[in-house]
Amino acid sequence: MLDGTTQLVAIVGSPIVQVKSPLNFNTWFQDHGLDLAMLPIDLRADSLPAFIGLLRGWQNLRGCVVTVPYKQLLAGQLDQLSARAQLLGSVNVIRREADGTLCGDNVDGEGFLGAARQHGFVPAGGNALVLGAGGVGSAIGCALCEAGLARLVITDVDAARARALGDSLRGTFPATEILHEYASLADFALVANASPVGMGNGGELPLSEAMLATLTQGCLVADVVTSPAVTAFLHRARALGARTQTGAQMARAQMGHLGHFMGVMPPGV
Ligand code: NAD
Repeated sequence: MLDGTTQLVAIVGSPIVQVKSPLNFNTWFQDHGLDLAMLPIDLRADSLPAFIGLLRGWQNLRGCVVTVPYKQLLAGQLDQLSARAQLLGSVNVIRREADGTLCGDNVDGEGFLGAARQHGFVPAGGNALVLGAGGVGSAIGCALCEAGLARLVITDVDAARARALGDSLRGTFPATEILHEYASLADFALVANASPVGMGNGGELPLSEAMLATLTQGCLVADVVTSPAVTAFLHRARALGARTQTGAQMARAQMGHLGHFMGVMPPGV
């Protein structure tokens, strides 16, 4: 129950009905007996400038999670950005300091990596393939490089987008070899779909059946897509004997990073 004493966090995007964060955060706040709540905000794009002003003045608001389509748009309007949010040009979380200063970070990649570590994936010295170099693919690529990956192959149907990301990551993480082509999946300890392919019930795969047949049993196959819960890609990977990670597991692993950045959860949740 909200009261005058309740401290708030928010999640902003449009549409907002599909997000799971309010349920996850509010359950956690309630289970821990905290006077905190998360509000979902479906915001029209032309209200973004007013929204930024509102965030600065909203004294019982601790922070705001940011989702599609505002991750890039909001990054340009904050007072401070983490180094990775600067590199990625996007934020998925904002902290409001007591004086109204707004600080942004992007923990999409940390959430993905946290879930992958829970599945036994060790990034340091490893090889990974990421399919999709958009917002989430960039964040995952960045987190993998930061964690000491030896070789990252990152592809996109928009080849120029993958190359631009590769150039930017190489500049920041010279110890990781970054490529855009591969002949088989045999060398990868992790194969991640970071594209929207497989959303809905169409059953599309981000890789050909012939390429999937080269998967090794020890590989972790991950999907960022959250609906359906188990995509056709993950079904095929399971049938081929691979371990799998769902989009929901990535989202759940992110909650602690988002909550900690906004100052409403301790580290390690
Ligand atoms: P985006 O539009 O920024 O990027 C998607 C990229 O995928 C584009 O560059 C596109 O060209 C590329 N692409 C499309 N088809 C491809 C293919 N067959 N092979 C390789 N690349 C391909 O979108 P985004 O913000 O990165 O979101 C991607 C997906 O991640 C969405 O489905 C979104 O819902 C999901 N997502 C999940 C979580 C989570 O916590 N699980 C968090 C954020 C986003």
